[in-house]
Amino acid sequence: MPHSGLKPNQKGRALDKTKYRLLGRTQLQVSTLGFGASPLGDVYGAIDPAEGRRAVHQAIDEGINFFDVAPYYGLTLAEERLGEALCARRKEVILATKCGRYGTDSFDFSAQRVHTSIEDSLRRLRSDYVDLFQAHDVEFGDTDQIIKETIPAMRQLQEQGKVRFIGITGYSLKTLIRIAEAAPVDSILTYCRYNLLVDDMEKVLMPVAEKHGIGIINASGLHMGILTEDGPPDWHPAPEAVRVAGRQAAEFCREHRVDLSEVALRFCFDHPRVASTLVGMSTRSHVYKNLQALGDHVSSQLVQHVRAILAPVSNYVWPSGRPENQD
Ligand code: NAD
Repeated sequence: MPHSGLKPNQKGRALDKTKYRLLGRTQLQVSTLGFGASPLGDVYGAIDPAEGRRAVHQAIDEGINFFDVAPYYGLTLAEERLGEALCARRKEVILATKCGRYGTDSFDFSAQRVHTSIEDSLRRLRSDYVDLFQAHDVEFGDTDQIIKETIPAMRQLQEQGKVRFIGITGYSLKTLIRIAEAAPVDSILTYCRYNLLVDDMEKVLMPVAEKHGIGIINASGLHMGILTEDGPPDWHPAPEAVRVAGRQAAEFCREHRVDLSEVALRFCFDHPRVASTLVGMSTRSHVYKNLQALGDHVSSQLVQHVRAILAPVSNYVWPSGRPENQD
């Protein structure tokens, strides 16, 4: 795949000062391309940990300053590995982690667990604070508990200086909105709701975020692998028709000598009110490729062509969370 420019071991920041955006009303200036650390926990298959560490260092060298992780990713493995990689470079990054989700079916949004969770995460991350602490996948919890117990406990941690800002994450836009309207939060992270395949975040969530000055983090711009050459992992929740459309889009891009992932990320980066688009990375080559997508060599015409290929399956949303919380 032709992608000129950044090469392995080439030092220097690829991100210029225009490639940082303010996260809502926080003082956090996050990089438009954020480092999603779930692959460090082997979530997308076993990785080479040494290469994962090099990818983290390379990302920082090139100006990526926003890192997102969670205890859930690899059942604490991603936090362990990210903490080890960041060790001497903690001050150079804006670090986000989460609480409330601890396994596929393991959730605990109690105040007591919020307090123990941050201590466990800080130990693994080798830090005495995180910049952003988020309640993870809130549609799997009792929204009343999250509003009345989880978020107040997270605010206590903010008062204690253990976390600088707090947010919520999840897939169900309805639930994210319900919570954010009832209990002020600094940021909302949603995933697979704004990319070449699905774009309802724009109409549904963005107006609420703007009204309350909440920072928006857009995760999974590659639709958890569907919008890549290699395709998604087996556990991906999208139906076969969506996977097939992804393969057709990849083929079209190959014929046009461009990588589908670059087209997908170009679409996401172009949204001016998304503070950061998180992409899951664990190799230097993905860091280089994804930084390339911040450039302007993918034309908007090509982006529209690929959207047209995906249009027959666009805006498919799968069920997630408690029945009463689903979109
Ligand atoms: P993603 O859409 O970023 O896709 C990740 C997959 O794409 C991985 O297999 C990765 O190796 C691959 N990839 C990355 N760059 C590539 C490239 N240039 N070419 C080909 N393949 C490439 O999905 P994700 O990792 O799930 O989401 C990004 C991050 O967002 C996560 O790591 C996590 O930090 C965050 N996230 C949070 C939540 C939540 O809080 N509920 C949910 C999903 C994601």
